[in-house]
Amino acid sequence: MHDHQAHGHHRHDGVDCDAALSQLFDFLDGELDDSLESRLRSHVERCKPCFERADFEKRFLEAVHAARVTETCPKALRERVLATLRAEGLGA
Ligand SMILES: [Zn+2]
Repeated sequence: MHDHQAHGHHRHDGVDCDAALSQLFDFLDGELDDSLESRLRSHVERCKPCFERADFEKRFLEAVHAARVTETCPKALRERVLATLRAEGLGA
């Protein structure tokens, strides 16, 4: 079943919310090619839900990277990241 309503009718520069969110991690990691990255960036800048999601994911990745410097145990790393996000009022 394909729900067209969920995709919306408005696209920003060829990128819709589904496309933006599905490529969010690659976008934040700088893994996308320049043209795709600029299209995603312009979508995120104009789309509040995607901006907030991107902001959250960016903080999450930053917390992971920061914790990874001092923590090698995956379980402890995960808990440290979650604690950091909680301290910032984010995440579960
Ligand atoms: Zn969006």
